[in-house]
Amino acid sequence: MARTERPTQRFPNVLVVTIDTLRADRVSAYGYRRPTTPHIDKLLATGARFSQARTVEPLTQPALCSLWTSTPPHRHGATRNGLPLRRDATSAAHLLGRRGYDTAAFVGNWTLRNAISGLGDHFERYEEVFTRKRWFGLFKGEATAEDLTDAALAWLKERDTASTRSPFLLWVHYVEPHAPYRLQERFASRLGISTGTEVSRSDRYDTEIAFADHHVGRLLAAIQADPELAAQTLIVFAADHGESLGEHGYWGHGRNLHEPGLRIPLGFVWPGRIRPGTIEAPALNLDIASTLLGLAGMPVPQGFEGFDWSGVLRGTADPPRQRTMWFQAHKGAVLSAQEAQEARRKGLLEVAVLSSPEMRKEIFRPGEAHSAVFNLLRDPGETHRPAPPSAPSSTLQTWLTGLRKGLADADRLARIAISPEDAEALRALGYAE
Ligand SMILES: [Zn+2]
Repeated sequence: MARTERPTQRFPNVLVVTIDTLRADRVSAYGYRRPTTPHIDKLLATGARFSQARTVEPLTQPALCSLWTSTPPHRHGATRNGLPLRRDATSAAHLLGRRGYDTAAFVGNWTLRNAISGLGDHFERYEEVFTRKRWFGLFKGEATAEDLTDAALAWLKERDTASTRSPFLLWVHYVEPHAPYRLQERFASRLGISTGTEVSRSDRYDTEIAFADHHVGRLLAAIQADPELAAQTLIVFAADHGESLGEHGYWGHGRNLHEPGLRIPLGFVWPGRIRPGTIEAPALNLDIASTLLGLAGMPVPQGFEGFDWSGVLRGTADPPRQRTMWFQAHKGAVLSAQEAQEARRKGLLEVAVLSSPEMRKEIFRPGEAHSAVFNLLRDPGETHRPAPPSAPSSTLQTWLTGLRKGLADADRLARIAISPEDAEALRALGYAE
């Protein structure tokens, strides 16, 4: 170990921790009544927490491709699980790698396999951690939070032993609490959940969050135990999307653009560099790549559509007063190369636009005559539709035209490589139609 000799880096290390299917309102730092996330709470308390962050698409592969490329799904091309990024897409991971970062990712969700997502090409090391048969499939297709933390810690130790001088970008994507919501008995009593009788889906979901939090805590401890390393490391915490736990008659994510699927926890932590506190202005997962480049002092490329919050986080700029945010939902997964020919154009389910500060949200299902319009300030549960019904707004229709063009371009440009094994894994995840 050469800890005392570690040189001061020009650029910070970047640790990006993402948790699959984690609703913001089930994180105790976001006011949840149960102590689901003590380690994440402790982390967020030392940095900036966004109280209103959303994903631009509530589906794993599209959402995480948006996180890294700072572009919406119709521009990066991975609009559904199983459809890859366009080859010309760039990402924060790729740009940091070009600046000399050691870039590594540890992912446990099959939809992120490089062979079908193309995301792994953006990292120097991309470890698909498939150590367990969690699903009902025939082969190992997933990892637990414990496995992912172990793999990431082994990588950090390897670097430390080698006294590497380059900064690192490390991304770990945890799978729990994605369905089927296993009961994690070890955490039930802390959450006040009795395991004597049948445990509800919603309660099992909470135990999975506590399980993931525990293993995220082990990863964070490795950074925080070393004050010098902690001071040189920017930590980003987020979920890929939320989860509908029965709201609007739906269990799952991806099929609609209501708030339970869109809302995600999001925080940026960098001791001494980022002012601790809560940011109420709405943010998107698109903003993460722009912001981490901004915080690292690097230029944000023109094609990045996300807002760079680095000035706000440092306390030198105000949050934007007004923002128009766009969302899209597509069918879950593409299960064969034949099906993928026009998969993007044919897969579109819903589009939505949300404007702040008035928080008017319009959801439109192409093919229908009317939009559903909600005022999230008065009606956060999106239960009251105004009468009479409104035709889709012209701004939304204009955006939809651009979106369809993007889908057609991506259908022409992106390669497809779905194997029978991929198809089975995607079905097991619940993404078949
Ligand atoms: Zn996901």
